[in-house]
Order: sequence, then structure tokens, then C-alpha cells
Amino acid sequence: MEIILQDSSVKSIIKDVDFAYHKENLVYNNETIKILKPIQVNGKVVVSQGIADVKLSVKTRMLHTCSRCLEQFERDLDLIVDEKVSKNEQEDENVITLEEGDVLDIRDVVINNIYLALPLKILCKEDCKGLCQDCGSNLNNGPCDCKFEEIDPRFSALKDMFKEV
Ligand SMILES: [Zn+2]
Ligand SMILES: [Zn+2]
Repeated sequence: MEIILQDSSVKSIIKDVDFAYHKENLVYNNETIKILKPIQVNGKVVVSQGIADVKLSVKTRMLHTCSRCLEQFERDLDLIVDEKVSKNEQEDENVITLEEGDVLDIRDVVINNIYLALPLKILCKEDCKGLCQDCGSNLNNGPCDCKFEEIDPRFSALKDMFKEV
């Protein structure tokens, strides 16, 4: 959905936004995040004197890979977009300037906001225990056997003594 940021018009233009579109993947920190559902976009854009006031609700579902345990998991994304975009640079720092031209593509606004909403490290849960560095097993499923493999040589000598008794 594209909106032209006209500044010639005296009145402001109100556009209702209600659409869904499909995008397969996002690439974030060298990882591919799969988008499982069409991205639902609802809200309103008010254009006045070349500035668009964009207020949207964005919903979808994504397939992530936990950066600690490498398990894949699904998570809903539900975010609010509230930003102003202008075709000319504004003194107000909160107003984003269009890179070129005067056409605002709402899908670009949506994708940028999805990126901004993603955490630096994507974890399946906050206290994810990750993988054992020795055997690679997922420690969220319980402890691995690694700790018990190292037998103190003194104990093994004792064991041998008892065997002979
Ligand atoms: Zn994890
Ligand atoms: Zn282990």
C-alpha cells in the first residue's frame, strides 16, 4: 500500500489501512526468520502538509531459532507502529525522512518496525539453559551425563580394593 505525501493540499487526507500481505523471510543478524502468517496491518494514516502520521497495529507469527539452544520455536508478533514520515527533512527529530521521492510504502514502515521490535538475542525463553559445551545436548531437557563421566582416579583405586575383598 502506497501513500503519496502531498504538501499542496490544504486539507489533511485520512487513509484507513486494512490489509494483509505475505512475506516469507526476514534476515536478522545473519539468521533467517520465517514468517508463518500473512502480516496483518490495521490502522490509519493522516497526511497533512507532506507529513504522514502513521498509526498501525501489526500482527503476524514467526518461526525463530533460539540463539542459545538452537531450537526452533514459534512466537506471535503484535506491535504498534506510531511514527511520522515526511518527504522533506524536518526539524523535529521524531519525524523520519523518506529516502527519496514522495511515495510512502506502508509495507516498508511495517518491516522496519518489525526489525526494530526484535531483540538483539532471540531466546526461546529468558532462562534458556542452552547446549552442553561437551556433548551438545539441550540442557532445557534435563542435565546431560557429562558431569558423571570424570571419575576421580583415587576413587577408582578404592573401587579396585573393594573388589578384591
Ligand atoms: Zn533456547
Ligand atoms: Zn554434556
